[in-house]
Amino acid sequence: MKTKYLCPKCRNSLNINSLIILSGKTRTGLKGIVMLKGDLGDYTSSFSEDFTIVEGNKVTFSCPICHRNLSDIKNKNLAHLIMVSEEGEESHIYFSRIYGEKCTYKITGKEIAFEYGEHKNLYRPDWLIEKL
Ligand SMILES: [Zn+2]
Repeated sequence: MKTKYLCPKCRNSLNINSLIILSGKTRTGLKGIVMLKGDLGDYTSSFSEDFTIVEGNKVTFSCPICHRNLSDIKNKNLAHLIMVSEEGEESHIYFSRIYGEKCTYKITGKEIAFEYGEHKNLYRPDWLIEKL
């Protein structure tokens, strides 16, 4: 079994091979499909045609299956997914909804298992500590 990414709301799988597929919407009402790399720390992303995102834009991600919002309840700048490792261990993944902000947090149990990205200090410690 490979690494899987699940919607925290409906628990359906959101990845095709190593790509995570999400629906996205900007504040100005643009809508599109977003593809993220499932390798944590790789911030290469792709957007569907005419879904033009520039640095600093905040994207509201939603599940393409149940359409529910994936924004974190406490920190609205972060989106939340569940990651299931090859061994079946579940972690919570949080990443910034603001395009250009490179930070990803992986929380397994009560511990920060990994933090990634050049902006990883932006959302810690206050928000993260509350999660642990
Ligand atoms: Zn869902």
